[in-house]
Amino acid sequence: MSRILLSRLESQRRYKEALRTNVDGSRVVESLPESWLSDRGLTRSDVRDRLEKMFGCAETVEYRQCDPNPEGEIVIDVLRASWCKLPAVCPVCSSRLQARRRGIYKDPIREAVARHRYRYMVTFTVKDGPDLGERLDHLRASFRSWYRMGQRRKDGKRSGGEAAKCAGMLCGVELKKTDAGLWHVHIHALVFSDERLNYQVYDRERLRHLRRVRGRDLTAEELRGCVSAWGVVNGVTVPISKVTSEWLAASGDSVNVDCRPLRGGWLDVQNSALEVLKYSSKLASARADLVPGKMVGRDLLDLVVSTYGRRLFMALRSFRSLARLNEFDAPGESDDTLAWDHSASEYRSFRAPLRFGMRVDTLSESGKLVGVWRRERRALLDRRSQVADLPAVLDSLKVHYRDRIAALWRSSRLAAFVDRHAGGTVADIENRRIAAMPVQESLFPA
Ligand SMILES: [Zn+2]
Repeated sequence: MSRILLSRLESQRRYKEALRTNVDGSRVVESLPESWLSDRGLTRSDVRDRLEKMFGCAETVEYRQCDPNPEGEIVIDVLRASWCKLPAVCPVCSSRLQARRRGIYKDPIREAVARHRYRYMVTFTVKDGPDLGERLDHLRASFRSWYRMGQRRKDGKRSGGEAAKCAGMLCGVELKKTDAGLWHVHIHALVFSDERLNYQVYDRERLRHLRRVRGRDLTAEELRGCVSAWGVVNGVTVPISKVTSEWLAASGDSVNVDCRPLRGGWLDVQNSALEVLKYSSKLASARADLVPGKMVGRDLLDLVVSTYGRRLFMALRSFRSLARLNEFDAPGESDDTLAWDHSASEYRSFRAPLRFGMRVDTLSESGKLVGVWRRERRALLDRRSQVADLPAVLDSLKVHYRDRIAALWRSSRLAAFVDRHAGGTVADIENRRIAAMPVQESLFPA
């Protein structure tokens, strides 16, 4: 269930319109050189397409009617919509994702609280930097190498890293721009474990033993003997915890790992989990960024470009199987479809399913075309240094496949219309303005 107030959805849509005006005004995409290509192979026109998709997010919404709230306002249960799937910059998608994930992980979190004795909120941070994509890659590579320190070995046992103790983990990446103009990235991880994580500077067992033997007043030398690990931070050797020493080894540049035990029952843990499941950047959460005159263009561009092809959420170990669930769309029959009316700045209702004309065979055929296009694109990017004028080649490839897919859908929708209104001619049907049907026009991923 992902219920939402219709008025809230409408205000999110209006925000999008304001954002479009703001970004268009900043001319941030136009100011990129024509030959520009991102590290992951996005051309200038790809960026423009992605922004357009983001501005047009949830222009069509398939829903089920719910009872009004106590104030008498309309509440709907959104099943599917024309999502842009850019939750790092889109408030609509980020709140959708948050609500869906809360639903998906609610019971598993409850079970994990009952099953495992310890739970923690662990935050892994790397140093700030100017290049968001590079920082995200570094954070992910560091996390992966930390995680591997607890990997299962050939003999079936796990390596000695603290990650071995993690029975289940939910991890969300958060990104923000610092006042110094650098990108700050970190991972919030909700960890369930049957063993205590070794996150304190002093080894618990050794310290406890020593206190039993020597009493409470220990000498500095004795305390030094209880230190979990030592690490060099800014050229100085300092005592650190085992988790920190592992994070330092994994990241190479940071000792910044914070481990907070979570107390309370499953409701408390679920509240803490919001930190992991929530939006990944402030741009997707607050409208405060959109003060008149203040352009959000550059940060928005950085986020759109750098989050492309990079995962910002991971479900690991016991939560792993849940990662495959559809995080945007919910199954079930809808009552109705809403389509955004640009002139009135509100939704209009259609008595037709959003997926009208989306036949299974067409869906799989267009899926195959997208697959071919992706492979060809990948092959070009793999030899990017040898291809002359690569951005233009990539763009014409995109146009070619987009046209083919659009043609496929046009004929499919037409056929569906003929099926439904048996007896009518194709010309009749075209007169009924098929174009006005609220069918997702762009099924083509940018
Ligand atoms: Zn969106």
